[in-house]
Amino acid sequence: MAAKTILEKLGILADAAKYDASCASSGTTKKSSLGGKGIGSTEGMGICHAYAPDGRCISLLKVLLTNHCIFDCHYCINRKSSNVERARFTPQEVVDLTLNFYRRNYIEGLFLSSGIVKSSNHTMEQMVEVARILREEHDFRGYIHLKTIPEADPQLAHQAGLYADRVSINVELPTDAGLTRLAPDKDARQIEGAMGQVTSDLAENKDARKRFRHAPRFAPAGQSTQMIVGADKASDADIVGKASRLYDSFKLRRVYYSAFSPIPDASAVLPLKRPPLIREHRLYQSDWLMRFYGYKPAEVMQATDADGNLPLDIDPKLAWALKFRESFPVDVNRASREQLLRVPGLGVKAVHKIVASRRHRTLRLDDVAKLTLSITKVRPFICAADWRPVTLTDRADLRSLLAPKTEQLELFTT
Ligand code: SF4
Repeated sequence: MAAKTILEKLGILADAAKYDASCASSGTTKKSSLGGKGIGSTEGMGICHAYAPDGRCISLLKVLLTNHCIFDCHYCINRKSSNVERARFTPQEVVDLTLNFYRRNYIEGLFLSSGIVKSSNHTMEQMVEVARILREEHDFRGYIHLKTIPEADPQLAHQAGLYADRVSINVELPTDAGLTRLAPDKDARQIEGAMGQVTSDLAENKDARKRFRHAPRFAPAGQSTQMIVGADKASDADIVGKASRLYDSFKLRRVYYSAFSPIPDASAVLPLKRPPLIREHRLYQSDWLMRFYGYKPAEVMQATDADGNLPLDIDPKLAWALKFRESFPVDVNRASREQLLRVPGLGVKAVHKIVASRRHRTLRLDDVAKLTLSITKVRPFICAADWRPVTLTDRADLRSLLAPKTEQLELFTT
């Protein structure tokens, strides 16, 4: 059989990488320029977007080193028992592609993951080699995100962090039971052990850089992880609990949630349908509540239903407010920042502006309306100089008044 060209390999290995959400540009509308109409596409594989430590949105070449794999994770298209077409890059080929794309201004960095070929150590060595050549031989200053392999020697993960801006290790599934069932070659303790090692490497590096200005940097953009949603029976409460434990234990920059997508020739242990994409979106919203709005994980879990799942028709902040109506209304002219952050429809920026402007004048409902997308959502939960919701907050049909219309919801569920 003829050897594959670089372009053929790129087609296979960039497509295979699209299942990893840890640097996803998902959530946008589908646009394509195939057929010569327009420029650019949001559907194709190969380029994804991520946020640099300074908040800039950057484009990355997102690719696997190889989609050969000796593991057999049921949910993965690259598992050893899958009959997908396989390909493998050499480290030099990935370096050349990255540099060529970089010079043409297509990308600002590289997101590199891989199936496990030969052994975890061998694969990790090859990935580190890509980053080493880029940094040491080409003085590449662009962003590098390396997905590290938990079963590999910790020394290799350490080297990865010395070259990469960000390293990540996927926990894959929210529960240990789910991992054992769907990824029989993986071990939850080994995954968390590897994450713990990166956490202590990060802490040591921070300390070293305080003492020695020229100490080498270790993964300045920190570490992240990804959890697959909807491939097992784990509820949203399980997922929120796991995410919060990971944030606390490993000081992660991000937990990414990836709705399970059915793959060709799927194993019988997997669900036939993907969960609604809105479920992934609700989990991201709950993640924001914990990271930026001061909610404790137990409070986010209070917003779930009897099965432990977040409602799909309304966001978790509104679900919590409807359950705990006795906490409202809050007075926009007097309430603490923490109380204002609990008001559905008020984002962090809006709360910041409310707190800043009420120093100079008394706020009216119209002033708040200018700061939000929907004053209808906010009104039942606040008081202002000229507004008091009276019985609105206690209305039995408040949820149906505030839930988005079904047609809008379907945009997310299809
Ligand atoms: S280790 Fe599992 S998830 Fe990773 S490429 Fe192999 S089969 Fe897929």
